[in-house]
Amino acid sequence: MLDLKKDVKYVKGVGPNRVILLNKLGIYTLGDLITYYPRTYEDRSKPKTLFECMDGEEALIDVIATSKIIETRFGKKTMQKIMLRDSTAQAEAVWFNQSYLKSKFTIGKRYRMYGKLEKKFGRIQIANPVFDEYGMTTNTGKIIPIYPLTYSLSQNIIRKIMENAIKEVYGNLEETLPEYILKRENLLNINEATKLIHFPKELKNFEIARKRLVFEELLITQLALLALKQNEILKIKGIEFSSKYKINEMVQRFPFELTNAQKRVLQEIEKDMETSKMMNRLLQGDVGSGKTAVAMCCAYKAVKCGYQVAIMAPTAILATQHMENFQKMLQELQIKCELLISGITKKKKTDILERLKNGDIDILIGTHAILEDNVEFKNLGLVVTDEQHRFGVRQRNKIVKKGQNPDVLVMSATPIPRTLALILYGDLDISIIDELPPNRKKIETFAVTKNMQERIDRFIEKQINQGRQAYIVCPLVEESEENDLKSVIELCEKYQKEIFPQYRVSYLHGKMKQKDKDDIMLKFKNHEIDILISTTVIEVGVDVPNANIMVIEDAQRFGLAQLHQLRGRVGRGEYQSYCILKYEGKGENIRKRMKVMCDTNDGFIISGKDLELRGSGDFFGTMQHGLPEFKIANLFEDMGILKQAQAIAQNIMGKENGLFLQENLKLKKVVNEKLNQLGSGTL
Ligand code: ADP
Ligand code: MG
Repeated sequence: MLDLKKDVKYVKGVGPNRVILLNKLGIYTLGDLITYYPRTYEDRSKPKTLFECMDGEEALIDVIATSKIIETRFGKKTMQKIMLRDSTAQAEAVWFNQSYLKSKFTIGKRYRMYGKLEKKFGRIQIANPVFDEYGMTTNTGKIIPIYPLTYSLSQNIIRKIMENAIKEVYGNLEETLPEYILKRENLLNINEATKLIHFPKELKNFEIARKRLVFEELLITQLALLALKQNEILKIKGIEFSSKYKINEMVQRFPFELTNAQKRVLQEIEKDMETSKMMNRLLQGDVGSGKTAVAMCCAYKAVKCGYQVAIMAPTAILATQHMENFQKMLQELQIKCELLISGITKKKKTDILERLKNGDIDILIGTHAILEDNVEFKNLGLVVTDEQHRFGVRQRNKIVKKGQNPDVLVMSATPIPRTLALILYGDLDISIIDELPPNRKKIETFAVTKNMQERIDRFIEKQINQGRQAYIVCPLVEESEENDLKSVIELCEKYQKEIFPQYRVSYLHGKMKQKDKDDIMLKFKNHEIDILISTTVIEVGVDVPNANIMVIEDAQRFGLAQLHQLRGRVGRGEYQSYCILKYEGKGENIRKRMKVMCDTNDGFIISGKDLELRGSGDFFGTMQHGLPEFKIANLFEDMGILKQAQAIAQNIMGKENGLFLQENLKLKKVVNEKLNQLGSGTL
C-alpha cells in the first residue's frame, strides 16, 4: 500500500542535500510533496513565430540554428550566443556562464526554445532560454508547473522530483471523498486531480483538478470545525453564572459611555454565561474598539458569581498593561488582581501560586506562564485570551483544563467579515464590535516612495520637537531572525548616527530577551526614548498614547491586515496621528494595496481587500491571520466552492452521527487527521 507518510528522502531524485532544502519548504513526507501545489503554470506547448512574438513576451519558438555557439569572455564571466531563424525572422539566444552549451547545438538542426523575447533595434533576442532538440519534451512541448518557493532548488529540479513522486503515487492514492459526493458535485477523482494539478495536459485540466482539491480541503475543514463545535461545546456542560450579578453594574463604572457595539456584545456574552452550556466565544473587534473594557465586564461578573478569572496575553508588556487597567477599575471593588509573568521574583511567584490555589486571588493576568503545570486555581470560571492568533487551539485547551469547563472568551484584533468568520471559526460563537468609540481621530496615512525620505525625516523631526514619539518598523526579512536582527541594528545606527543624532533612538527585536524587550518598551512608554525602531514585535496591542507617528519601511512586503495592526499602535491618545508607508516597486497591485491603507481605517474593509488583492496561495500561507491555513484554497476566489462545501458539511453533520455513516467513513478518516493537526483529539 502507498504510504504518504513516507520520508521524502525515499522519493527518486531526492538525495541528502535536496532533503534539507525540501524540509526548508515544509516538505517532509511524500504526502507533503505531492500537496506542494504549483503557484502558476507556463504554457510551453504552443510555439509562436518570431514575427508574432511581442516585445517582452515569454514564448515558445520553433527555430533552426544558423551558427555555432560563440563564446565571449569578460573577466570571470562568459557569454554564449547562437544565431537562430524561423520562417518569419532571425533571432539570437544568449546565456551566461554556461560553457557546456558549446557541444549542444548543431548548425541546421531544429530546436524548440522557451524564454523571454526582447525586440530591440530591429533585433530579436531571447535570454537564457530553456530548450529541447525538436521532438524532445524535457523542457518544452508541455505545460510546466511553477512552484511557489524553492530556495536553492531550481524549478527544474523540483519539477523532476515531482514527476517521480507523481509517477509513484498515481493510481495508488486512496480516494478521500465518498462516491456520492464525487458524482453529485461532478468532481475529479483524487488520482487524476493530483496528477493534473501538477502536470496538466491543457490549462483547462488544471481548473478541474484544482476545483476538486479546493473542494476537498474546504469540506474537510468545515467538517472538522463542525465536529469540534458539536463535540466540545454542545455536549459539555459548563458553568451557569448567576443572573443575580449583572454586567451592567460594571458598565456604569467606566469614565466613558460604552459604545452600542460594546453593549451589544456584552449582552450576547452575558446570555451565554448564564446558560449551562460552556461558552466558547470569539470576540472580534478592530484595534482600539475597546475589547479590554468588554473583558473586564465579563471578569467582573465571573468574580461576583464566586469564580476566578484567567486573562492571557501574548507578551509581558501587554499583560502588564492589562494589569494596570484592571487594577484601576477593580481595586476599589475589592477585586484582587495579580500579574504572573516570567519576570517576577521567585518569592512573589510562590506567593501568587499559593494565593491562587486557596482562592485569595480573583483575577490572574499573565502570559504563557499561566499555562505552567504548577499554576492551579481554586475555581477557575472564565478564561479570556487576548490577541487570539498568538495562541493555538492546543494552548487554549490547556488553560481550560485548569478549571471545570470554564467559559472561554477569545479576543482577536484581526477583523474579518462575519460571513467568513462564521465559516472559519466554525468551532466558536462570534461576537463582533463593529464600532469605534466616538471622537477617534482618523490616522492620516501616506504612502510614499524612497525619494521622499528627506521630507519624511523633517516631518518626524517637527513632531518630535513638539514632544511626540515615533515608531519605525523595519522591513521584513524572510530568511532568518538573525538577518532580521541585523536589519534592525543597521537601521537603528543609521538613524542614531546620520539622521537623528539629536534624539534618543533605540531598537526592539524578537530575538532579544524578554526582560530587555520589556525594559525598552517601558522606557518608550515613559518617554525616555523618542524613536523606537522595531521589527513587527510591536504589532500587538501596546498603548503609548504619546506616540503619534508610525513609519513602516518596505510596506509593500506586509499584508494589509498586518499593516493595519501596526498602524493601530498610534492614534491612541489626544494627538493627531500619522502612518507613513514607505514602499518600493511599481506593480499595480502594490499601488492598490497602499491606496486601500490610505483610504480607510476600517479593519473589516481592509481585511476584505486583503483577501482580494493577495495572490492565491500566499494569503493564508503566513500566520498573521491566525486563520486555518490552506494549501490550495483561496477564500476570496473560492467563496463559491466554500459555500457549496459548507452546505454539504452541514448536511452531513446535521444527521445523527453523520460522519459514522457507512457512506461517510472515508471522510471521517480525513477529518480525524485534520482534528489531530488542530490538536483537538479525534472523534
Ligand atoms: P482593543 O480593542 O484594541 O484592545 P482597547 O481595549 O485597548 O482596544 O481600547 C482602546 C482605548 O479606548 C483604551 O484607552 C480604552 O480605555 C478606550 N475605550 C474603550 N471603550 C471606550 C468607549 N466606549 N469610549 C471611549 N473610550 C473607550
Ligand atoms: Mg487589545
